[in-house]
Amino acid sequence: MNLKLRASAPDANPPISLDEARIERLIAALGDVPLVTEPARVKKKSLDFYWYSPVLKPRLAGKTADVLVTPRDEADVIRTAAACAKYRVPLTVRGGGTGNYGQAVPLEGGVVLDMINMDNVLSTQSGLVRVEAGKLMLKLDRELRPYGWEQRMFPSTKRTATIGGFVAGGSGGVGSVTYGGLRERGNVVAARVVTCEETPRVLELRGDETAAINHAYGTTGIITELVMPLTPALEWRDVVVAFRGFDKAARFGQALAIADPIVKKLVTPIQWPIPSFFPQLGHQVPKDRDIVICMVAAHSMQGLTDLVATHGGEIVYDVDSLEAETHPAKTLPLYEYTWNHTTLHAMKVDRAWTYLQCLYPADRNIELVAQMIARFPDELLMHMEMIRFGGQLTNSGLPLVRFTTEERLNEIIACHEANGIRIANPHVWTLEDGSAYKTPPEDQCAFKAGADPYGLLNPGKMRTYTPVGH
Ligand code: FAD
Repeated sequence: MNLKLRASAPDANPPISLDEARIERLIAALGDVPLVTEPARVKKKSLDFYWYSPVLKPRLAGKTADVLVTPRDEADVIRTAAACAKYRVPLTVRGGGTGNYGQAVPLEGGVVLDMINMDNVLSTQSGLVRVEAGKLMLKLDRELRPYGWEQRMFPSTKRTATIGGFVAGGSGGVGSVTYGGLRERGNVVAARVVTCEETPRVLELRGDETAAINHAYGTTGIITELVMPLTPALEWRDVVVAFRGFDKAARFGQALAIADPIVKKLVTPIQWPIPSFFPQLGHQVPKDRDIVICMVAAHSMQGLTDLVATHGGEIVYDVDSLEAETHPAKTLPLYEYTWNHTTLHAMKVDRAWTYLQCLYPADRNIELVAQMIARFPDELLMHMEMIRFGGQLTNSGLPLVRFTTEERLNEIIACHEANGIRIANPHVWTLEDGSAYKTPPEDQCAFKAGADPYGLLNPGKMRTYTPVGH
């Protein structure tokens, strides 16, 4: 339904439907807030990596916003939120647009709010940084290093993702082997959030309160600032260890992850032939070898070397991590072969590859990994990410899956779940269906009722929310 507003009869309770007059009123209310309506530019900023999923690709194609707004500061955000609430225009926040299940795709048009120009570091002290949400995570680490600090964790998209997008759309990544996932207590210290109301409120959420906006896809508020915990900056090594047999690689990965005295950021067992899909690195890995990609503190290399010898592995690659990150054209940083990047490299070789996001139970993870490999010999290649989860060591599984049909993909998912492996389905766009919990935490739904009464923030992504406002 696309209702036309009559100029003589202002609509007190306009439904969420867009027409030119409504957009024109919105634009007039935005004043000098930077915005663009040129369809090609708006469309470009309405996309993310949703095409990663063969299921989402046809379903989200063609979705676009009407206006691209690029706030300079929090005052611009407040003005935009107020105007969207007044004229009942959907508002979808955007960081770097690297979300891989359509988190940043505006399903119902309206405004895309591109946070990329809000990227100031506001303070760095006592192991905490207060930073604007649009800060690129690579730039943040570069600005922190002179002060002797670095981020505890980052996604493998560190070069292109924003800190706000990571907290709102991500779940963990490089560093999670030590610090767990983003939702674990202590990994987000505070968030400053603008609500979507006619008179927006600016809330300072602290500690557990930040769960309301953590991995909520921007449906519960617009994050303008974050306070994130840091760790002392170290010298890191990008290391690849090769094994004959994936079981050996997996056991080594587990042993390294558990070895607390060996300081690390990344432990990623990967089954052959996945390494042959990797540009640059592929040539460094001997044929038929399963590998473990590691990021280990330079001062822990002796411990790593000893552990490799105990497990019968061979170090086939060892470079300075910072050097690789600084010159990616020459040497891609190893983290760009891990987490969701593994799938990206496979898809570049063969578009039939897709993937799953699994959480293995801590007490049986290695055993279940072997079972899943054996259960789907022609359809699944294993890729594990060692992580802490609730204090226990386990692995997230991001196996490559050869896609045939959606039905078959769902059968493979069901088999994992039947074996006690939790699935965060990356082939759906709602928070509920995409989480292993199948429901947004109660705090998020309740918080949304206050922060987004009209259901305008990224509509369609939290399907169990019913707007409380009229
Ligand atoms: P966007 O994609 O722009 O947005 C993500 C979500 O957050 C959207 O719903 C958006 O509306 C919302 N949002 C953005 N900014 C704000 C804000 N300021 N306030 C409120 N809501 C906001 N994810 C991981 O967790 N770990 C990984 O290692 C990882 N690796 C990846 C590798 C590849 C190749 C790809 C394509 C994706 C990967 N992802 C990973 C998913 C994604 O890159 C991360 O979640 C990333 O941190 C998103 O950041 P972004 O700035 O691109 O956010």
